[in-house]
Amino acid sequence: MTETITIALSKGRILTETLPLLKEAGIELLDDVEKSRKLVFPTTNPNVRLLIIRATDVPTYVQYGGADLGVTGKDVLMEHGGEGLYEPLDLNIARCKLMTAGKVGQPAPEGRIRVATKFVKLARQYYASQGKQADIIKLYGAMELAPILGLADEIVDVVDTGNTLKANGLEARELIDHISSRLVVNRASMKMKHSALKPIIEQMSAAVERRR
Ligand code: AMP
Repeated sequence: MTETITIALSKGRILTETLPLLKEAGIELLDDVEKSRKLVFPTTNPNVRLLIIRATDVPTYVQYGGADLGVTGKDVLMEHGGEGLYEPLDLNIARCKLMTAGKVGQPAPEGRIRVATKFVKLARQYYASQGKQADIIKLYGAMELAPILGLADEIVDVVDTGNTLKANGLEARELIDHISSRLVVNRASMKMKHSALKPIIEQMSAAVERRR
């Protein structure tokens, strides 16, 4: 019996950097995803389809079996918690750093600190690990504005070149973690569809190794 394998991805850097790895596993898109409004895409492998969803929804789709496989940033994965997921492979793509940042020349206050972020759980864990009291404010985007407008003393965000911080009068402070994208697998699919998933995971793994 041939099983359908569904792979969840998000548009942007993760999609761009995952497609060459999938190609080496014999999976290529038939449409231009960036130009399409569709959410489900067929591939050159008739048993494999790609789901294009929001980055923060990828672990949830895979957790509940809406997708068998997914590609997601370690930041998103840690914030989700990783329940119901295997994480067999670091794809070593979309690399960046999870950092704290604040206004240039304005160090964080000594006592209680206000922190704006979309990574509420990670921020809470980080400041607690540093023995700092933090009030966490959840934002969904444009975190860089929060210190400028007096909403928060610091932000927690992913940083690549640091250009976005700089353009908004902010500076990176503490490194919380190094981030890269991970392949995640639904735990039930790993058992039930093992023979179909194994070659995909192995070929992607070999593609990652060749790039090291
Ligand atoms: P930067 O290169 O530091 O100016 O990053 C530009 C923007 O892209 C920032 O707002 C980051 O939040 C975001 N960003 C950079 N790298 C990644 C990544 N690997 N995954 C998700 N978001 C990223």
